[in-house]
Amino acid sequence: MTQEILHKEVVIIGSGPAGLTAAIYAARADLKPLVIEGPQPGGQLTITTEVENYPGFAEGIQGPELMEQFRAQAARFGTEFLVSWIDKVDLSERPFTLHTAEGTVKAETLIIASGASAKWLGIPGEAPAPHGLGGLGVSACATCDGFFFKGKKIVVVGGGDTAMEEATFLTRYASSVTVVHRRDHLRASKIMQDKAMKNEKIDFIWNTDVLEIIGTPESGVTSVRLYNNVTHEETTFDCEGVFIAIGHKPNTDMFKGWLEMDDIGYLKTNGHSMATNVPGVFACGDAQDSFYRQAITAAGTGCMAAIDAERYLDNLPVPTLTGEEVTIEGEIVTADHETIIMPDGEVISNHADGEAAPAGD
Ligand SMILES: Cc1cc2nc3c(=O)[nH]c(=O)nc-3n(C[C@H](O)[C@H](O)[C@H](O)COP(=O)(O)OP(=O)(O)OC[C@H]3O[C@@H](n4cnc5c(N)ncnc54)[C@H](O)[C@@H]3O)c2cc1C
Repeated sequence: MTQEILHKEVVIIGSGPAGLTAAIYAARADLKPLVIEGPQPGGQLTITTEVENYPGFAEGIQGPELMEQFRAQAARFGTEFLVSWIDKVDLSERPFTLHTAEGTVKAETLIIASGASAKWLGIPGEAPAPHGLGGLGVSACATCDGFFFKGKKIVVVGGGDTAMEEATFLTRYASSVTVVHRRDHLRASKIMQDKAMKNEKIDFIWNTDVLEIIGTPESGVTSVRLYNNVTHEETTFDCEGVFIAIGHKPNTDMFKGWLEMDDIGYLKTNGHSMATNVPGVFACGDAQDSFYRQAITAAGTGCMAAIDAERYLDNLPVPTLTGEEVTIEGEIVTADHETIIMPDGEVISNHADGEAAPAGD
């Protein structure tokens, strides 16, 4: 058995915008949260350059600097940090058990903010600067970076819905968008394909793999080296930007079998709250959001998850995935808040005077 190193009321897995916002709220509620920083302290924004769409920074801010501010704000109110990551969990009972290389951490409530990772091709030139051209013309997020490519010639790599969505979005800025796909047909849904095919700014290169992204830190991206997997020909294609759009993978493998998730691994949350199917476990940010995937939405749901955890610890109702509203120790509060079902099955009024509230209360 591994040694227990900490036991906390609120443990937050992940130190991106979602996790650190949850920490700010939980710390200000005097819950002394623990943030387990994970393999990428600060999260995805630490591998980008300018962030221009995070509110409050009229002139924009560098991604790593923004995340330092988040961390300092969380630390200011008493957040503790553990430089480690979780490889296994046991959510069968409270406190929940989290396994790290240093020992086990016990959590009365758990906030999962482990984010998602864009899938990359693993080719030369793709890594974040200074090792490659990431942030200097290579991106995996059109919403984030499209604005920087006004009037430029762009390549989008991929053939699924993500690629069609990114390509279509980028035509707002780019002079032309060329989709490079390794097969002779697209995987994307018909509606997304039709939209992209009808767009005059988009054209396609089929049966082709991207072998390398070429450029320098001074010039940014200048071209891509392509390989036609039918004719076996290699060519160079001039462009000023490359968007890798082959999907994302949420960092949620350790919750398989414990928490409800979709086919890709995005955790399911309630909709009205950030509750998962296990009472006391909340999820926020990109780990549960396959759609918006922005720093501000991650931060927003981080705030929600912390407020949910705080209510849960105070024995107040938090809506769950089942539609019931559950408090700790097995009590169930009905969705209309009128009655509480006790662990032994007794049904009692949820009103201070024991009476049912008048209509409209
Ligand atoms: C290159 C790039 C540029 C971007 N630009 C913008 C932009 O300009 N504007 C914008 O709004 N959004 C941008 N985004 C998207 C934005 O970064 C994400 O939406 C946001 O970071 C999601 O926040 P998050 O906290 O949910 O997860 P993440 O930022 O992904 O953070 C996840 C955290 O979980 C931790 N973790 C993972 N696994 C474990 C584990 N097993 N145990 C413990 N911890 C773990 C990681 O270490 C990390 O700290 C960009 C993304 C990328 C990749």
